[in-house]
Amino acid sequence: MDHTGYPELDALLPRLAAIPSLDRGALDAERIAVLGRKQGALTAALRAVARLAPEERKAFGTVSNGLKEAFETAFATREAELAAERLDVPGSTLDLTMPGRARWIGALHPITRVVDEIIAIFRELGFAVAVGPEAETEWFNFGALNFPPDHPAMDMHDTLYLSQGPGERLLLRTHTSPVQVRVMQAGPPPYRVLVPGMAYRNDTADASHTPGFLQIEGLAVDEGIGFVDLKATLTHFARRFFSPTTKVRFRPSYFPFTEPSAELDVECQICHGKGCAACKQTGWMELLGCGMVHPTVLTNCGVDAERYTGWAFGLGPGRTAMQRYDVPDLRLMSGGDMRFLRQLAGQEDA
Ligand SMILES: [Zn+2]
Repeated sequence: MDHTGYPELDALLPRLAAIPSLDRGALDAERIAVLGRKQGALTAALRAVARLAPEERKAFGTVSNGLKEAFETAFATREAELAAERLDVPGSTLDLTMPGRARWIGALHPITRVVDEIIAIFRELGFAVAVGPEAETEWFNFGALNFPPDHPAMDMHDTLYLSQGPGERLLLRTHTSPVQVRVMQAGPPPYRVLVPGMAYRNDTADASHTPGFLQIEGLAVDEGIGFVDLKATLTHFARRFFSPTTKVRFRPSYFPFTEPSAELDVECQICHGKGCAACKQTGWMELLGCGMVHPTVLTNCGVDAERYTGWAFGLGPGRTAMQRYDVPDLRLMSGGDMRFLRQLAGQEDA
């Protein structure tokens, strides 16, 4: 098109001819400058139709619409050319046939999910979360908790010491129980706390031990708390965590910081009591250790043992996760194998 017969339209023809050489930024600006609904040059020219005699309007309309279409085609053509150029850079190693990169979808670690769930169950019962240092003194880790000075857990083989020499030695806490001591020292009862955190022992990693492991424990101290509260609360917890019909049993046990002490077993979640390799044919799995807080521990922490009583429990969420997800080896939990973690993330979502 080089001549339209209308001067105001002819004035636009050089701009139409220039479109194939515009770059990306200029192309967008020129489209608005020509076709823009308010300020566009062609739009303004089209308004001239109002000044024409009625018999001339049709001819002008045909020509001007033809010009508008020519502009639109030219803009679209140049746009397609620029898009193609972007993908066809000489020397580029861009391979458009390669498959796209799949998006990584994060998921919580199975042990984190177990900890979150335990906290959620106890939160409904009025328990708050407390945390404390992982490097502790012997007194917080053992002494306050009524460990006799010759207790085997204090042996170098079990405890990772950070300092030697005269005075009180620093160590990596072997359980989360020092936090109980810190909670009790911070103020008077009642206490209802859950303590999640890492604990460390000088163990060689095997199918059921790792030198660093998560532990979660609970403490309830108030006036008039008895063993029946411990049994009712922990049975409720086990049934909320596993299933409402899960069988539980309490076995007598020993811990220096509780008296009496017990182990809580739940029906094996794999064979449901029939006996299998996971439960060593017993039909039961050990869930946690528990007991009434030893009066000496209360006294050591400044709590009036004549007035207050309480109970405590502790479990390893790593082993609990193994029981729930039927994982044969604890080391898988910390191995960082994405195939294993993906499988468990999917198990929950299914
Ligand atoms: Zn079993």
